[in-house]
Amino acid sequence: MIKKIVILGGGTAGWLTANHLGSALKSRGFEITLIESPNIPTIGVGEGTVPAIRKSLRSFGVSESEFIKECDVTFKQSIKFVNWLDKNAHGENHYHHLFDHPEIFGEGLIDNWLSTKQSDSFANYVSKQEQSCEKNLAPKLITTPEYAGINGYAYHFDAKKFAAFLGKHAVNHFSIKHELMEITDAELDCDGFITHLVTSKGDKVNCDLIVDCSGFKSTILGDKLGISFHDRSVDLLTDTALTIQVPTSDKVEIPPYTLATAHKAGWIWDITLTQRRGVGFVYSSKHMSEGEARGKLAKYLGLDDISPRKIPMKVGQREQFWHKNCVAIGLSQGFVEPLEATAILIADFSADLLSKRFPVCRDDICFIADDFNKIIKLVWDKTFDFIKMHYCISDRTDSPFWLANKDISSSTLTELKKNLTKWGRYGPMKEDFQSKFDLFDYENYLYVLYGMKYLPKNRIGSEYPDDKLFEMKKIKTQQIVNELPQHRELLDKIKQYGLQSV
Ligand SMILES: Cc1cc2nc3c(=O)[nH]c(=O)nc-3n(C[C@H](O)[C@H](O)[C@H](O)COP(=O)(O)OP(=O)(O)OC[C@H]3O[C@@H](n4cnc5c(N)ncnc54)[C@H](O)[C@@H]3O)c2cc1C
Repeated sequence: MIKKIVILGGGTAGWLTANHLGSALKSRGFEITLIESPNIPTIGVGEGTVPAIRKSLRSFGVSESEFIKECDVTFKQSIKFVNWLDKNAHGENHYHHLFDHPEIFGEGLIDNWLSTKQSDSFANYVSKQEQSCEKNLAPKLITTPEYAGINGYAYHFDAKKFAAFLGKHAVNHFSIKHELMEITDAELDCDGFITHLVTSKGDKVNCDLIVDCSGFKSTILGDKLGISFHDRSVDLLTDTALTIQVPTSDKVEIPPYTLATAHKAGWIWDITLTQRRGVGFVYSSKHMSEGEARGKLAKYLGLDDISPRKIPMKVGQREQFWHKNCVAIGLSQGFVEPLEATAILIADFSADLLSKRFPVCRDDICFIADDFNKIIKLVWDKTFDFIKMHYCISDRTDSPFWLANKDISSSTLTELKKNLTKWGRYGPMKEDFQSKFDLFDYENYLYVLYGMKYLPKNRIGSEYPDDKLFEMKKIKTQQIVNELPQHRELLDKIKQYGLQSV
């Protein structure tokens, strides 16, 4: 029987897993312990999320107001992609990948835009949300209940504070035990199952199932059990990030979106919290030196002298995610550059999946692990497709990096290649997304494809725009823009009064 569960790692992935398992398995007689090393720090980055995180926090019983107060949270309604197209052809350019679905006002509006209105941006034409973003508005009112929104939203937060907040919640609400110790080895039985973890002091911690959330090192699944890493850097070329935090005044407006500005060998993320920005210069070290990257980051920030932190990024995923009685979640499972905030999303999804069908005995592991491995592999494959698409449909040709990205003839992403041919002729349709494990769906693809002007040549659709839909959307947009408070104003009010709890 499985009774003792050990989660190895106290970063975002470890504590998300602790809350998922804690809330699903409480009062079922399991003993769950989270072990983290006092000497190995968490990665300390990962500050952008997607709306799915709201469902998890709510299911854990987290108060959204407390979370906002304690984790320096700001709202995120979009990713604003700047200069992902050729400046010579389009001038300074941008598009939004919004969190509101583009078909809220009807599919007809998408058809209208395709047939006549391409002078306006796709996102602004179909959605009420782009204007809220550009005007730095909040996605809700102080009277809107916790986790509900007038516009779709996720969060930006301080990564270290978030892990600590989740940790406090897991310990207080789900009786998760928290131990500080370093694991240096594991002992296996004759079937290859882990029986004990061994600490740096030589103590043994017995366990029936271990969730490896130990970060890029993948201490148990990778190092001890030898599950190899599928390197995907042939498709995604960025491999390094220079990160820095820059203080801001508590009077400046807070953009309710992540800014993702492309440069000649990658892109820069810019996330504004209430008192600082977190900025990261993501680049391919094969196409840009560290010195040049530092110079470009300093120029972006308007500063002469900067001391960023350098983080090497291992792009790819493990060949298996669950082997014997060890499941990897978080960076130990895999990683893709943070362009669409996919890492926390996949960790959250994996932990939820594990908690929904948790094996009560060792005999059940084989079929549960098999399903888990299939589903998570699909999730990674689809994620790689989606991220690569941002690069390969760009018309930028101004550097070897963009030229290398455009050439997908030798890419391993065969599904993406097929889809791009199809969408270049007919555009995407809902039926192209058949799996419910597509974490990025029809609507996400629409924003990126049409935002980047990847338009269908042989589209079949109405040529007679239904102006009523557009009028309806215009009225609703105006109403929302008049109604919603400024982003910072709402955050200040939440800190003072709190939101209505659910
Ligand atoms: C540059 C960059 C930017 C990112 N931005 C985003 C983003 O915007 N959005 C997003 O969703 N994701 C982002 N991510 C990913 C995100 O940071 C991670 O998915 C998230 O923080 C989870 O990390 P983790 O918990 O898996 O690992 P870590 O935070 O590295 O935690 C590892 C834990 O394991 C413990 N540990 C390790 N070895 C041992 C041992 N031997 N014994 C005991 N304990 C051990 C450590 O003490 C630590 O507690 C980014 C990642 C990078 C690299």
